[in-house]
Amino acid sequence: MRPRIVTRRPVVEMDGDEMTRVLWKWIKEKLIFPHVDVQREYYDLGLENRDRTDDAVTVEAARATLRHGVAVKCATITPNAQRVQEYGLKREWKSPNATIRAMLDGTVFRCPILTANIRPVVATWRKPIIVGRHAYGDVYANFEYRAEGPGRADVVFINAQGQEVMRQTIHTFDGPGILQAMHNLDASIVSFARSCFEYALDRRVDIWFGAKDTISKTYDARFRAIFEDIYRTEYRAKLAAAGLHFVYTLIDDTVARIMRSEGGILWACKNYDGDVMSDMVAAAFGSLAMMTSVLVSPTGVMEFEAAHGTVQKHYATYRRGEPTSTNPMALIFAWTGALRRRGQLDATEDVVAFADTLERAAIETIESGIMTGDLARLATPSAVRVCSSEEFLNAISENLNRLWTCAAPIRRSALSG
Ligand code: NAP
Ligand code: MG
Repeated sequence: MRPRIVTRRPVVEMDGDEMTRVLWKWIKEKLIFPHVDVQREYYDLGLENRDRTDDAVTVEAARATLRHGVAVKCATITPNAQRVQEYGLKREWKSPNATIRAMLDGTVFRCPILTANIRPVVATWRKPIIVGRHAYGDVYANFEYRAEGPGRADVVFINAQGQEVMRQTIHTFDGPGILQAMHNLDASIVSFARSCFEYALDRRVDIWFGAKDTISKTYDARFRAIFEDIYRTEYRAKLAAAGLHFVYTLIDDTVARIMRSEGGILWACKNYDGDVMSDMVAAAFGSLAMMTSVLVSPTGVMEFEAAHGTVQKHYATYRRGEPTSTNPMALIFAWTGALRRRGQLDATEDVVAFADTLERAAIETIESGIMTGDLARLATPSAVRVCSSEEFLNAISENLNRLWTCAAPIRRSALSG
């Protein structure tokens, strides 16, 4: 076996809950640690430890992520009333993802994992479509009102000095109706735009942004203006050097173009568009277990995870001592994403090469017909062997050992040359 490679600087590791915590341990033991001596800063975000530390561990993990620039996170339970009972919690702790996202001022991008035998529903899609959702404001932080009868709705703006600087009638109601008001912030849109450009550069894909500025001549127009301004002043040269483009079109045109595209695009979406379109794109690419998720800060700090949750139902089966066929792909790709980013930032080519090789080993395993149950339902041609999570990880491990060991001499001579 070739000697273990070492990461130069640490990756922040956040452990999690239930079935994904089980898979997490196997992934490290079977796929990562035999080949890579990963310098880690470990934070246990399992629900018991969050409760024990009054959730301080989540804040510490987010701070460490800002310090080291790269993190990998397992899925975690967001407690509700039922979980408070189940785990005897002190409180209904906030979602760890919400805490970390706020501290990183980050944007979440979802990116599917593609294999040749799981065809996207949209036949032209051959490359991933990465959806980035602006997770601030708009309808998610709106004010809504139901008018019971006739009356007038005005919107008023009072400046910091207490002066009314704008008053406008939205509508004069003759009978019952509904109204809503919403807002966004320049600072939040700027951060969103920067995160999108950073991640497009990292993934080497074009970036598309669609809004409705023909109708929304101030609100959506502001999004457009900020994107174009950040592009012009900060990213045009960098994108051009990488041969990449930024495209602004109306949202309806963007949707139509996406459907006819071959993929390989980062699609920056306003909040509601991102909510809706990320689910459409995910469904079209197949299984939730094949969707990765990356949180990117405006300065390029990245936290990698799977888009799915802790797979609670499978965990119940596991606890009864029965094997489950839970798909570990998105969790594996969270690790490879983090290792690749670490390697790129540290200029350690062998770490990047390992990440690429592990992804190849995992994809080739599925393409050889060995897969978990969720994929067997989607695969053409049909699966050769439907296996448990552990069997599937063992199969990937065998492929990895072969690919990584054979790759070694080639890379060594390439490096010395
Ligand atoms: P989930 O974990 O996403 O699983 C929902 C269903 O999707 C599963 O029952 C399973 O369907 C399928 N599935 C998801 N991942 C799979 C995988 N890797 N392999 C095979 N099938 C997979 O959602 P949940 O069970 O409703 O939520 C459990 C917990 O996760 C909740 O406490 C929630 O707070 C948390 N959560 C965390 C995150 C995060 O940390 N990022 C995100 C979402 C949810 P079948 O049962 O049909 O096989
Ligand atoms: Mg949604």
